[in-house]
Amino acid sequence: MKKCIAALVVTLLAVTGLFAQIPVVAPPRHFPWPDKTLSPDQRADMVIKEMTQDEKIQLVHGLGWQTIFAKPESGPGTRAIDPTEFIPGVPRLGIPDLQMTDSVVGVSGAGETGRYATALPSAEAMAAAWDPALSHEIGTMLGHEIRALGFNMSLGSGINMIRDPRNGRTFEYKGEDPLLAGTLTGEELKAEKAVHLITDLKHFAVNDQDAGRTTANAVIGKRAMRETDLLAFEIALKGSGAGAVMCSYNRINGTYACENPYTLTDVLKKDFGFKGFVVSDWGATESAVKAAVAGLDVEMPGNDSFGEPLRKAVEGGEVPLERLNNMVHRVLRTEFDSGIVDDPPQPESPDVLHGFEVSQKTEERGAVLLKNAGGLLPLSAASIRSIAVIGGHADAGVMSGGGSAQVSPAGGNAVPPPPEVLQNFLQNPWASFMLIEVYHHSAPLKGIAEKAPHALVKFDAGKDPTSAAALAKASDVAIVFAVQHTSEGMDLGNLSLPDNQDALIEAVAAANPRTIVVLETGGPVLMPWIDTIAGAVEAWYPGIRGAQAIANLLFGDINPSGKLPLTFPKSEADLPHPVHVDPPKPDANHPRPKLAGFPEMIAAAMVSGPFFDVVYDEGLKVGYKWYDAEKKPVLFPFGFGLSFTTFAYSGLSVAAGESTTVSFTVKNTGERAGIETAQVYASLPDSAGEPPKRLVGWTKVQLAPGESRRLSVPVGRDRLTIFDEASGSWKLVPGEYIIHVGGSSRDLVLQQAVSF
Ligand code: BGC
Repeated sequence: MKKCIAALVVTLLAVTGLFAQIPVVAPPRHFPWPDKTLSPDQRADMVIKEMTQDEKIQLVHGLGWQTIFAKPESGPGTRAIDPTEFIPGVPRLGIPDLQMTDSVVGVSGAGETGRYATALPSAEAMAAAWDPALSHEIGTMLGHEIRALGFNMSLGSGINMIRDPRNGRTFEYKGEDPLLAGTLTGEELKAEKAVHLITDLKHFAVNDQDAGRTTANAVIGKRAMRETDLLAFEIALKGSGAGAVMCSYNRINGTYACENPYTLTDVLKKDFGFKGFVVSDWGATESAVKAAVAGLDVEMPGNDSFGEPLRKAVEGGEVPLERLNNMVHRVLRTEFDSGIVDDPPQPESPDVLHGFEVSQKTEERGAVLLKNAGGLLPLSAASIRSIAVIGGHADAGVMSGGGSAQVSPAGGNAVPPPPEVLQNFLQNPWASFMLIEVYHHSAPLKGIAEKAPHALVKFDAGKDPTSAAALAKASDVAIVFAVQHTSEGMDLGNLSLPDNQDALIEAVAAANPRTIVVLETGGPVLMPWIDTIAGAVEAWYPGIRGAQAIANLLFGDINPSGKLPLTFPKSEADLPHPVHVDPPKPDANHPRPKLAGFPEMIAAAMVSGPFFDVVYDEGLKVGYKWYDAEKKPVLFPFGFGLSFTTFAYSGLSVAAGESTTVSFTVKNTGERAGIETAQVYASLPDSAGEPPKRLVGWTKVQLAPGESRRLSVPVGRDRLTIFDEASGSWKLVPGEYIIHVGGSSRDLVLQQAVSF
């Protein structure tokens, strides 16, 4: 029957001449590269043989900056979800478009589609869980949402070291230790790739401050770089199958990161064996020839260098054709390797409920209990009669971090910005996007009230310390929510809580010693009031289910287990650089430089002044390594975090060898079930010239009250080596090593010496 109708239609079309108006679609050509038994490299080479020079050039740059101001009305750009994060494919050869989205703490590109994406807690919370399995779960969830929204390439994760905690992007990174950050990020990337996505790791490298990021020159020794910032990338890349590495805006020892042959080619492509492509940060390409020859493969989002200038440079022989072919090969082999060609994303509804679950779990495992004097926490819903909830817009939502990582808040901003901030943003977005504060609709006030249905729960906005103190005084317990906004495009002037919140906390604590402070901050803050309060929780930016997670932790439905992935110093004077290196203002002799990567309008707003150096003379001593080496007391050390139970360590034995095994027993000595993260550090022989100790491994264990478990942590030899600049290789320094085990970097109760 169907056949008859079809035949009738064909006949009708033929006799009426309509056939002539229907475009003739050529039958699909048979290409050999769909053969999945071939390697990604073989498949890529087959495609390259068929490509025109135009098609090759088209594959190594974005559509151009103009797409920021006007969306394309014709051409391949019309297919873009976000034209500024798009590279057109080659449909005639079956090569897909690259649709990219930022995705450090959720799919930020969802905003472009007007659709929902799960807002995860800060990357620091992910790190504070010290849990590779959770990172894998986060990567899988992110991967599914990225694909569901139609994207096939992610622009996360971030892995820069916290050399200065005032960095406005600290919330996007996984802390100050290369092993912790690298391991967890690697798991996340592996999981994203497993659902068939091109993944990306950024910002390569030594992009450790955001203020003046386009004009900063990171001055740092090779050994320091290899053992810290670059090591984090090396660990994350190993086995993760990451498709792309994003080079950063800054210069490294005088050469732009995106045209730096040492970092891009010698280290990344040769030493690390990275087979994917290097993509520039948005506007970080400063040249065609120098960048291409140094190892940059793709310019984004523009084409000012890798469009016409690159084409001419290849024609003129300044960039060898083999190099262009290699750039294209890297893009194509990554497309085949990631699975986006064989299994393109099929847009669908994101699994919102699963996103909620992963987001909440991340916060529950990543929030860190910093103080719990007299066992005030967990709060008892049965006995508590009144609770004062104060400040931080806790009646409306939870704070999030700003910039390209910003996930659109479901249901709009829970705390709309003041009209003047909005106005300023609309008039000059490039200069003021970092001032927009976004809160997700997850109100801690509601979460707390639901936990204590018999208590009188009242809210005070915290604007006036006197009124907040009066409410605290009249309540059994006071919970102050302290917020600190941070964003890409800025650094913090200092580590103090903004907006008079220190005075607020002091006033509340003076009125009621049963005060708990919940911090929603981008990173460490100073706590001049810490001795006056009873409890403190670092909740980071808590994500879309922050309220539920915080309430579960405060009321003991979840026993806190997060451990700090970065040090909280006692004062700014203790930082490696007490004074932040601010970008200098331009003057007659030092004008603002012209940067090739940005159109003038953007450069005028984003490039603040002349080039300047940020000298990382603390070198190897990043984070806890600095405070250890300088013997400085800290507010809360790396690896620290309390539980509602306690743990005891005993019975250390170390079997040293090619892979060393560190074994010990952990016992839950308290009355609640809990999770402990047992950490293993090593002190190298003095002749190695290293900071006092480094993290070399860890394991997590869940224990019932009274339960003990024997645990083993393998420590690979590469965790004990140092980078020898003279030979450009890693070596094990012979001598005595001390292995330390315990619950934080400053609570290492077990030690044993071993010789290598
Ligand atoms: C950020 C990157 C981001 C890119 C695209 C840049 O400003 O530094 O992290 O991936 O924009 O949004």
